[in-house]
Amino acid sequence: MSNSDKSVTILGGGLAGLAAAQKFSEAGWNVTVLELEPVVGGLASSFVTDDGFTYDLGPHRLYSNLDALNDHLKWVLDGNHAYRARLSRIFMKGKFFDYPLKTSNVLTSLSPWLLFRSFVDYMAVRMRNAIRPIPDDNFENWVVKRFGKTLYDLFFGTYTRKAWGIPCNQISADWASQRISQLDLFDAVKKTLFRPKNTVRSLVSKFIYPTHGGIGELGKGYQRLIEQDGNRVETAARVTRVHAANGRVTSVEYEQNGELHRMESDLYVSTIPLTALVRIIDEPPQPVLDAAAGLTHKGIVFVYLKLDRPQVSPDHWVYIPEEHIAIHRISEFTNFAPRCAPEGKTMVCAEITSTPGDKYWTMADGDLVRLASENLASLGLIRADEVLPGSHVLRIDYAYPIYDLTYRGHVKTLTDHLKGFENFVSTGRQGLFRYGNMDHSVAMGHAVARRILENDTIDHAKIAAEDEYFG
Ligand SMILES: Cc1cc2nc3c(=O)[nH]c(=O)nc-3n(C[C@H](O)[C@H](O)[C@H](O)COP(=O)(O)OP(=O)(O)OC[C@H]3O[C@@H](n4cnc5c(N)ncnc54)[C@H](O)[C@@H]3O)c2cc1C
Repeated sequence: MSNSDKSVTILGGGLAGLAAAQKFSEAGWNVTVLELEPVVGGLASSFVTDDGFTYDLGPHRLYSNLDALNDHLKWVLDGNHAYRARLSRIFMKGKFFDYPLKTSNVLTSLSPWLLFRSFVDYMAVRMRNAIRPIPDDNFENWVVKRFGKTLYDLFFGTYTRKAWGIPCNQISADWASQRISQLDLFDAVKKTLFRPKNTVRSLVSKFIYPTHGGIGELGKGYQRLIEQDGNRVETAARVTRVHAANGRVTSVEYEQNGELHRMESDLYVSTIPLTALVRIIDEPPQPVLDAAAGLTHKGIVFVYLKLDRPQVSPDHWVYIPEEHIAIHRISEFTNFAPRCAPEGKTMVCAEITSTPGDKYWTMADGDLVRLASENLASLGLIRADEVLPGSHVLRIDYAYPIYDLTYRGHVKTLTDHLKGFENFVSTGRQGLFRYGNMDHSVAMGHAVARRILENDTIDHAKIAAEDEYFG
């Protein structure tokens, strides 16, 4: 069979799905992408308002440690990119801390009492570890074991509890050893205060961002390339059923404009959430349904405030660990690309951790805009009267996979089940239940395609699974 006789259906038009689709398309396959939303890009989508504001789903810094992947991303962006120097800070105890922390900043911003307690705790935990080590059995213990209770409470526990919405002793230690922004902060504290040897983690100091159109330009770039090859990217197309028989997927059903369609192809690559997928694939066994029910996601409510001022701060984002503030992070898109707002105006995206049905999820949009405005005004970042009409809210339910203490077993049950279908692969952040970055999702899509097209041995399921900091 030549490639032009082969066909693949891609479920989900986020970066993982689009990157895989583009590789198959380039190789001459017949490709169809089915994307639920009216625009491609998934979590890396962007929107432009009629009055000239461009915004993303929270801050999106694009970068890979692999030069070839960076070159590929720039090629997809087709000249629409610039490098930016990363700038972010932490607002805590009424003060801004540089991020990464600077010694002078920490020493002058933390009270002598807190510095003393941090040091004593740190020494105490080191002695205790020498006699009877604290087990690495959850996130809290992992961090306390390495840094002591005071620093944990101060910089890490509060923010993590707030950002992920569950107690830190119910979060897997995996979370601590991979890329999480709070760990950056904590590493910085550790480096600043204790100057440890053999520190392997480092911060990405620059990143790529489109000069216009927001991070969603990457997804649109892929869509252009796929369509130029004569292949199809169907948007507003919800996959509702995956049919299977004798260990093979036979077709998928999707709904578009109120009509049901059926797609048949040789291969199927899914990047939709794993938990949703196993419920729509034919005849899921009860243990699979139970495992799916055991996995949870954290959602985010994004409140976008249009502001009548040119800039709030020079940061790409600011972490806000303070518990009395609902927002856990803000970002400002004009600092990613000046063209993201009309001259003299800016937009701030305030993120609030939420889950469908909880108090922030169900709060009226107007109340959320008021809450975010009041929060930021109370921090002294804006004046409430600077908030322009047209500020609005978006809610995303599959923002973060929650690595609780049981997630690994549940994910294995689901992925083992899916391995039973020989012409089917589930990949990407959602398809692997993996807390990864945009570059990881692109790499996963590429790995799936290369394994089939070039017999490459890279295992997509091992990407972003490393026990190391992701940058
Ligand atoms: C707030 C936030 C900030 C982030 N910041 C960064 C950052 O700074 N740098 C970075 O590199 N990464 C960042 N990320 C991560 C990055 O956005 C994701 O890792 C990446 O975009 C995931 O791509 P994906 O294709 O794997 O998954 P997704 O983007 O989730 O794509 C899955 C797609 O499947 C579609 N879908 C779902 N159900 C169906 C269905 N039934 N039928 C059809 N389609 C369906 C969805 O609409 C979606 O488009 C951030 C993520 C968040 C939430």
